[in-house]
Amino acid sequence: MTVAETNWAGNIRFRAERFHEPRTVDELRRIVAAGRSVRVLGTGHSFNAIADTTGDLVSVAGLPRVVEPDGRAGTVRVSAGTRFGELAGVLDRAGLALHNLGSLPHISVAGACATGTHGSGVANGCLATAVRAVELVTADGSLVTIDRGAAHFPGSVVALGALGVVTELTLDVVPAFEVRQWVYEGLPTAVLRERFDEVMSAAYSVSLFTGWRTDRIDQVWLKRRGGPDAPGAWHGAVLADGPRHPVPGCPPEPCTRQLGVPGRWHDRLPHFRLDFTPSSGDELQSEYFVARTDAVAAFDALDAVRERIAPALQISEIRTVAADALWLSPAYRRDCVAFHFTWHPDARAVADAVQAVEEALSAFAARPHWGKVFSTPPEVVRESYPRWEDFRGLLGEFDPTGTFRNDFVARHFGAG
Ligand SMILES: Cc1cc2nc3c(=O)[nH]c(=O)nc-3n(C[C@H](O)[C@H](O)[C@H](O)COP(=O)(O)OP(=O)(O)OC[C@H]3O[C@@H](n4cnc5c(N)ncnc54)[C@H](O)[C@@H]3O)c2cc1C
Repeated sequence: MTVAETNWAGNIRFRAERFHEPRTVDELRRIVAAGRSVRVLGTGHSFNAIADTTGDLVSVAGLPRVVEPDGRAGTVRVSAGTRFGELAGVLDRAGLALHNLGSLPHISVAGACATGTHGSGVANGCLATAVRAVELVTADGSLVTIDRGAAHFPGSVVALGALGVVTELTLDVVPAFEVRQWVYEGLPTAVLRERFDEVMSAAYSVSLFTGWRTDRIDQVWLKRRGGPDAPGAWHGAVLADGPRHPVPGCPPEPCTRQLGVPGRWHDRLPHFRLDFTPSSGDELQSEYFVARTDAVAAFDALDAVRERIAPALQISEIRTVAADALWLSPAYRRDCVAFHFTWHPDARAVADAVQAVEEALSAFAARPHWGKVFSTPPEVVRESYPRWEDFRGLLGEFDPTGTFRNDFVARHFGAG
């Protein structure tokens, strides 16, 4: 049995009594139908107990691998456990691409979609916005397909693994494209405050990295599709003279190529290379989404508590995500700025820092990333999601006996 017993970060030890790695969908259907408490694990890259269960923990990594691009339809059919890095290679060879990627290509497609995982770009929705259809095994072992046209589709994509085990997804694809990546250093925060939208719209995907230590943003990563070379100076920041890692002092080798060297979309949109397996257990992460219209006020609120954030922080990343219509997406109906924190793996220091961040962002109806460390009370999270009750209704319909309702889901949506 190869199902991991902890998550990638090692801060969650799964409590499952039984681990399963079915080889066929029929085998999976039998496991689910027989289970009282079932959860599905993707690649285990979440930082909280969202995937945990005391019953049966199922991995879909052993199901037959499907990656079927269809250029004419503008889609790809993909098995749920496929990692983005794997999918991207096949798509690119077919002249196709995904609209965006997260910072790490090692994450499973279904797991990423289940939590609203995202990259950056003012016009780029989270990765789940590419989903056109979901095939899943529901609590009674039935295999159902939900297409984009279905009334409950918007509740069935970012679904926290609570509606069933996704076996396959159909995703929208676009023609393959090239990206060039540049890093600038030392963007004055005064400039960022004045020109936040201009800075974040300066490329297809823009990420800011800051340690909240000075009045400058440490690094700005620009990922551009076409256009001229990047100038040496920009908004008071200076073009980096060599490759950089987002965390100060770390060697840049695991990072995707910078310095404007053209590359395929999947070799530039993630910050980290697929052929470098990141060491596990060295970090925890948190992330909060606020409306982009509140970006500067939220930035200032965080800057005001930088002393409380600093003891736990490795690095912070600021990205944008376009609004979507997926009920539990952190970007539901609002263009967002996402404030991300990579923490040192010190649970107590992280808890203090998370509290400081949550207090600072409490005026902005911040939505926490479903797959990261947060302590926002469920009633506060609920208030920020207008379609909360609709999702609860969907849970009752799809999973009336609470097969997939682990502690995480019960805490937020009730025990059923
Ligand atoms: C180093 C690192 C970098 C990261 N970078 C980003 C980033 O750039 N952007 C971002 O938004 N997030 C990022 N994350 C967070 C990560 O993308 C999410 O936690 C994501 O959900 C992890 O996917 P997974 O396959 O590991 O899912 P898991 O952590 O295994 O599971 C997450 C949820 O998905 C459900 N799930 C998994 N597979 C299925 C399935 N087949 N059917 C139904 N439900 C399923 C699980 O039940 C669980 O509820 C990062 C995490 C790490 C460790």
